[in-house]
Amino acid sequence: MKTYKIACIPGDGIGKEVVPAGQAALEALATAGGSFAFDFKNFGWGGDWYRAHGEMMPPHGLDELRGMDAILFGSAGDPHIPDHITLWGLRLKICQGFDQYANVRPTRILPGIDGPLKRCKPEDLNWIIVRENSEGEYAGVGGRAHQGQPIEVATDLSVMTRAGVERIMRYAFKLAQSRPRKLLTVVTKSNAQRHAMVMWDEIAREVSHEFPDVTWDKELVDACTARMVMRPATLDTVVATNLHADILSDLAAALAGSLGIAPTANIDPERRYPSMFEPIHGSAFDIMGQGLANPVGTFWSCVMLLEHLGEQAAARALMAAIERVTANTTLHTRDLGGNATTVQVTQAVCAQFLPVPA
Ligand code: ATP
Repeated sequence: MKTYKIACIPGDGIGKEVVPAGQAALEALATAGGSFAFDFKNFGWGGDWYRAHGEMMPPHGLDELRGMDAILFGSAGDPHIPDHITLWGLRLKICQGFDQYANVRPTRILPGIDGPLKRCKPEDLNWIIVRENSEGEYAGVGGRAHQGQPIEVATDLSVMTRAGVERIMRYAFKLAQSRPRKLLTVVTKSNAQRHAMVMWDEIAREVSHEFPDVTWDKELVDACTARMVMRPATLDTVVATNLHADILSDLAAALAGSLGIAPTANIDPERRYPSMFEPIHGSAFDIMGQGLANPVGTFWSCVMLLEHLGEQAAARALMAAIERVTANTTLHTRDLGGNATTVQVTQAVCAQFLPVPA
């Protein structure tokens, strides 16, 4: 029987509630299925680790993760630590250290969930956003000088490389090709940003020739926000830069009903390193420790984790269990307008796999 080694990094805030929930669902699935098992290893990195050690993770932390089959991540963010430290010290360190250059974010309106768009039927919104995850606006290039002086200067430079753009375009076209509609929208801002984004557009066109069966179009990022709201059914697979996709995918999650249900995968498509799966929401300290966190985003991230491991039947079973649970509005957490707790939703999902005791 195959045993998958999974690193669990709950991180901060509600990450500490939703990651154990995800672990419980994976465990229940493995126990019921009997064809594979999980060996979970927990890492207490994040804000508390920073307070104790002055860093978000140990210097050789990546070496501890290297041999894992996948990483299940919660969130990094702490009201008492600057955001750039929590983000760069943990999540981005892993994404960049393991060259997880494709960030993949599916969005659908799940059964039982009432999205905010009144004219949008559930079948009108079925998107997958591919975010360039290794360079662009988050390349970390820039600097700051003369701090606090009137002549203070600060820059954040967006860096795009031909290799980086080619590989994300190829990933997005391939993903679009694998979906029934074979439809890709390339998000750009080449009207105002006349260097890197123009190269981005050119490379999209070049790569498109390798995928003649994929229909594709180009959309300015500002126009794309309006299109997502006004004409959601015209989108299917979407590829965008690091910053653009970051913003578009939060909008996508909100249009699907809640930030609490949206998943994401940070993928190294070449499988040189473990890939990382996480809900898109942050640490949400406002609801931490109250049992209010919606674990559905983490469960859906676990579906993506199973797909990445090649356990397609288990992935389908978990997704079906999630949909059966969201369809029951008495099992909605507060972000969806209900009263259910994290534990109740988790138990309901796990109960789909475990035999009911006599
Ligand atoms: P961070 O600073 O770590 O990115 P945040 O706390 O600013 O995160 P988000 O996690 O992005 O914020 O979420 C914004 C709000 O949405 C939260 O304050 C919380 O009220 C709600 N929210 C987010 N995720 C969930 C969830 N899984 N379940 C319930 N509510 C959620």
